[in-house]
Amino acid sequence: MRLELVETAALIDGLWIEADRTFDVTNPADGAVIAQVADLGASETKVAIEAAHRAFPAWAARTAKDRGAILRRWSDLMLLHAEALARLMTAEQGKPLAESRGEVVYGAAFVDWFAEEAKRSYGHAIPTPDPSKRLVSIKQPVGVCAAIAPWNFPIAMITRKVGPALAAGCTVVVKPAAETPLCALAIARLAVEAGVPAGVLNIVTGKDSGAIGKALCDDARVRKLSFTGSTPVGKLLYAQCAGTMKKLSLELGGNAPFIVFDDADLEAAVDGAIASKYRNTGQTCVCANRLIVQAGIHDAFAARLTEKVAAMKVGAGTDEGVTIGPLINAKAMRKVGDLVSEAILSGAEALTGGGPDPLDEDRFYTPTVLVGVTPDMRIFQEEIFGPVAALVRFETEAEAIELANATPFGLASYFYSRDVGRCWRVAEAIEAGMVGINEGIISTEVAPFGGVKDSGLGREGASEGLDEYLETKYLCFGGVGG
Ligand code: NAP
Repeated sequence: MRLELVETAALIDGLWIEADRTFDVTNPADGAVIAQVADLGASETKVAIEAAHRAFPAWAARTAKDRGAILRRWSDLMLLHAEALARLMTAEQGKPLAESRGEVVYGAAFVDWFAEEAKRSYGHAIPTPDPSKRLVSIKQPVGVCAAIAPWNFPIAMITRKVGPALAAGCTVVVKPAAETPLCALAIARLAVEAGVPAGVLNIVTGKDSGAIGKALCDDARVRKLSFTGSTPVGKLLYAQCAGTMKKLSLELGGNAPFIVFDDADLEAAVDGAIASKYRNTGQTCVCANRLIVQAGIHDAFAARLTEKVAAMKVGAGTDEGVTIGPLINAKAMRKVGDLVSEAILSGAEALTGGGPDPLDEDRFYTPTVLVGVTPDMRIFQEEIFGPVAALVRFETEAEAIELANATPFGLASYFYSRDVGRCWRVAEAIEAGMVGINEGIISTEVAPFGGVKDSGLGREGASEGLDEYLETKYLCFGGVGG
């Protein structure tokens, strides 16, 4: 089927910029080239920053209601073109079509929600300690923002930055991942159609992410950087932003524990584990990474999980009934393969799967359940980013918490229990930004999303997500008398 909304030029200052140099965007399911996209670098990034800087005063001066009306139109257009966007997403990212359709709705929801929320970016009237003074605080947009996004959610990871930024009155330069620039460019085209003015939203595509990133970090006109991606790149950007003292949001890697206590509802826990672990072929930052299961329920849980995982259908995301698509690239295939083989060599056992899929051993990995995983294995310590559930057995609640927290990461976490006291205790004890309690899917635009420790800084979504794009200014009125 022919893809619609395919844009291959970058968007800078309202103009679609072609380039002599291009890079290929390929379909991870079969390696076919879908499009050739403008390969820009540091100099074009500077032009985009300049455009965003010029556009900022007029955009910031508009009312939140006015900006919100444009953003609502943008969100409506995404929904109007949902099917075309979903097909584009599956083509460049690989996820099953049903999941792509879900992401378009989820992505549009950030724009719609922040369009409303910015109308409520209240300051405070502060009770004065001095009769001659009156004190207030107001909220103002931070200025030009940079947004660097990953490939695993090619629309939602952009709208959850651009939505609040534009709603707050900021202007933005976005760098999408080189694997998935087409979704970014398609939604940018819809933003222009919705009435987002020239320079307010700029999309810089390019293969040299280091050079583009450095140009964004080094420029003092960029007042904030929002990054979603891996922890090593996040730490590099954190350091690079020190020189210009930018405000930062860093949404980084995870290593989510998924604890199943003996008193859990077995079927609910298995379904939650499947939703959390295998969505997007296991390539989400909030994916259950370590399934920590209490001894009394371990074997029954492992058996039921294995039964369901073995029945999953692997294939191209456009094929009917497929739930497990390709991994994003050869590097991801190697990483998942190495983690599983090392674990098996160290004593873990695959109850199903355990290797590349016969469908195409270079692109697909068979959904896997491993038992006998221990904390000394790399698969316990690192983000798997593939369709592999790694089960660890435990005896006591204290041991489960210790295992859950035995990681430098702290993004999502999950546990299943029907004991209300335990639910409170464990939720409070887990070192993570988010806790799913008897629930495997927790992301929504209305709740604060983000991590602690090496999983990053700041929150996206909810009123906290808007605050990331606002500065608080304190006004002190003197000589009032009284
Ligand atoms: P990545 O390699 O860190 O890349 C993320 C983005 O950063 C891409 O746009 C990439 O561009 C760019 N980039 C890479 N090196 C850069 C540099 N030196 N300077 C500036 N930009 C640079 O991560 P990924 O493999 O795409 O994404 C997977 C990771 O993202 C996982 O760790 C996952 O947990 C994390 N993630 C976190 C969240 C969250 O909310 N916490 C959400 C989704 C994903 P190119 O691709 O063009 O090189």
